[in-house]
Amino acid sequence: MENYQTVIIGGGAAGICAAISKARTGESVVICEKMPQLGKKILATGNGRCNLLNDNLSEVFYNAAARQLVKSVFSQFGKSEIIHFFKDLGLEIYSQDGRVFPITNQAASVLKVLEMELKRLSVPVEYDFYCSGLSFSKNNILVFSRGGKTINSRKLVITGGGKSYPVLGSDGSMYDIARQFGHTIIEPIPSAVPLVVKDNLCHFLQGQRISAATASIIDGKKSAVVKGELLFTKYGLSGTCILDISEEISIAVNRHHKKDVFVAVDMVPFMDREQLKKQLIKRQKAATSPDEILAGILPNKLSFALRDLFDKGDVDAVVAVLKERLFKVTGTKSWNEAEFTAGGIEVNEVNSATLESKLHKGVYFAGEVLDVDGRRGGYNLSWAWASGFVAGKTL
Ligand SMILES: Cc1cc2nc3c(=O)[nH]c(=O)nc-3n(C[C@H](O)[C@H](O)[C@H](O)COP(=O)(O)OP(=O)(O)OC[C@H]3O[C@@H](n4cnc5c(N)ncnc54)[C@H](O)[C@@H]3O)c2cc1C
Repeated sequence: MENYQTVIIGGGAAGICAAISKARTGESVVICEKMPQLGKKILATGNGRCNLLNDNLSEVFYNAAARQLVKSVFSQFGKSEIIHFFKDLGLEIYSQDGRVFPITNQAASVLKVLEMELKRLSVPVEYDFYCSGLSFSKNNILVFSRGGKTINSRKLVITGGGKSYPVLGSDGSMYDIARQFGHTIIEPIPSAVPLVVKDNLCHFLQGQRISAATASIIDGKKSAVVKGELLFTKYGLSGTCILDISEEISIAVNRHHKKDVFVAVDMVPFMDREQLKKQLIKRQKAATSPDEILAGILPNKLSFALRDLFDKGDVDAVVAVLKERLFKVTGTKSWNEAEFTAGGIEVNEVNSATLESKLHKGVYFAGEVLDVDGRRGGYNLSWAWASGFVAGKTL
């Protein structure tokens, strides 16, 4: 049986950072990773570009329950520490609209510099090590793999991630293990996920993209409006402005089984209602057929699909639909299409300064396995780096 001072379970963003920060103290550390390689999810981030940080790294961009914890972790390892950490590893970065990327625009560069540092620090990695259980004695923790291996350690960092994109490694298996030693798991729900809606318009327009402003309406309560690209799909709605409002909707539909859930889409976000009305009146006079009225404002296929709106000649009613078309949400797509997990280990069960479990001394958590999820825009990787680093440093 091998012995290490610290075992890290999960070699993603958080696990790699925890290993680096621990190994820099000179203590022995090993990463146990169920996949045959480290950081598979890192490679998929930002469409392969890896949006690794955001210029405005504040706790307000995370789920309300996690903000205290996030604030405490970022006060120890925040934006400037993350930038310094990567620059020190040799990664050049740039910022675009607040989102920070590697200068190479390749997520592979981020993983490469992290792996180079692990190599420099001689951190061993146990690949294909699927952690299947833990056993605790007074001073030791035994970590078991499905393949029959056992590792003995004094401390443990659990960085097994959430449940999204299981093909990249994280499958929620560490929730079950944490539950076995008493931790509460806030029900994991897919977040940053496309929505399933019941509406013929989506089916007709599948593949069509528009610039839109969207909001959720749950039990009659409207959320803040988000602008961005909207994509009509065979099953419903996707695109950045849908992914950005999807968390609240996913929780309402998947966790609370609510039925009164809608997406309100402003299809003409670049005009207010008055401007749009004036335009429609002018265009109605000039058009030779109804589908010409919206030509040039909306894509042709959409203006064709909406031509019947003009049948009754009620311009105010047309404006109302164009500025707030409602789509009834019946579900979300699955974990295979969700960028993050909402839910996970209850954050009040970890020490906010150290990330150590309050239930089991010597066990720490970092990354997406905790009930922490941030907005799209680099917030989830920022959390993974920072929490991994803090857990490793304070072990
Ligand atoms: C398609 C996609 C794009 C994204 N883009 C961005 C982006 O641009 N910016 C951003 O900030 N965030 C992005 N995210 C989210 C971000 O990638 C994650 O929040 C972050 O990688 C989480 O890091 P983690 O280390 O906590 O978990 P993970 O990266 O999921 O790592 C967990 C690791 O643990 C291993 N593991 C799990 N269970 C076990 C077990 N039982 N035994 C051993 N090993 C185990 C897994 O194989 C995995 O390697 C994206 C996510 C996806 C899916």
